Amino acid sequence: MIPLRIKVEANADQPFVVRLRSFEVDAWEQRTERLNPFDATLERVGPEGADYVGEGGSIRILGLDPSKIDGDVLLVNPRRGTADRLIRSSSQHNTFLVTERCDQICLMCSQPPKKHHVDLFQYFETAALLAPEGATIGISGGEPTLFKDRLFGFLESVLDARPDLSFHVLTNGQHFEEADRHAMGRIDQGRVVWGIPLYSRDPGVHDEIVGKAGAHARLLGSLALMCRLGAQVELRTVLMRPNADRLPHLARFIVSTLPFIRTWAVMQMENIGFGRMNWKALFYDSSEGFDVVGRSIDLVRSRGIDALLYNFPLCTVPEPSRHLAPATISDWKRSYREECDGCSLKARCGGFFEWHPANHGYSNLGAIQ
Ligand code: SF4
Repeated sequence: MIPLRIKVEANADQPFVVRLRSFEVDAWEQRTERLNPFDATLERVGPEGADYVGEGGSIRILGLDPSKIDGDVLLVNPRRGTADRLIRSSSQHNTFLVTERCDQICLMCSQPPKKHHVDLFQYFETAALLAPEGATIGISGGEPTLFKDRLFGFLESVLDARPDLSFHVLTNGQHFEEADRHAMGRIDQGRVVWGIPLYSRDPGVHDEIVGKAGAHARLLGSLALMCRLGAQVELRTVLMRPNADRLPHLARFIVSTLPFIRTWAVMQMENIGFGRMNWKALFYDSSEGFDVVGRSIDLVRSRGIDALLYNFPLCTVPEPSRHLAPATISDWKRSYREECDGCSLKARCGGFFEWHPANHGYSNLGAIQ
């Protein structure tokens, strides 16, 4: 697995953001690109680590090849001797975890909520401004809109300063209100996609899955507001036993009531957090029962709404629908199995989450020749 938290040595008291430049400063003089005050250039590499120096001081990176971290943006915690790789310059999968608090408690949550919260928005803003040209940055939690004033201000500020950037924000859609119209209107909605989960047409089933009474009704109110604001919505439905049979019912609801959404993503479960605890009760083997999925996405697509399959190993999807299953599992947590050796689809298959169980749960799986 690609490490997102690395060991460092830095002579500082407070956390700080730095961008690593794995070229010696002389080499920079040959380049047209200018160094930023947050940049630190490579001074030397030795058995004890790679030393970088910048305007803010020096930092030693332990255990990583400098050529693999050029352009990475770190949030350094000098007291702990660690740094979080907020931006990996070579990756399309950079996400800022803005909080671990949440007001829902979903049965399959991969990142169960915690009470503790530390506001890191000032660091996220600095890091985003140092991102590579044209990057899309993910925002997730917990529930980011629990701190919506900070979130909206962050999005507005970064998008104003960097016209090339865009964001994908995961939110449970429980906290948007009419009163947010002004703040949301200041954000360039053309460069933000809001990923919002809806698990069922049936309010009781949805509320049971998210562990919150009234969540379904609140969510529909938020979606109506998002429509009025012209926001881009990616509706997300994790496929599970409690909602799989009625997926076509949800598809009909989407085309009749939510035709403004940009994408409907049907997603396979992640075996971690509550998802692992509840795996046996929830996991739906779509390699056997793909019919409900196929009928549902066909209906939505026939009405001009994009429908996609996230986190589905390609061999579990019938061939006519495979083009709808992009490799969505982030590079740092993606793995493949023995069965994948020699598979002709491997290059475009997202495989499995690193922590997916060896007895994988799919009854039909295997290399496609
Ligand atoms: S065998 Fe592995 S690589 Fe091939 S389609 Fe299945 S999961 Fe993907």
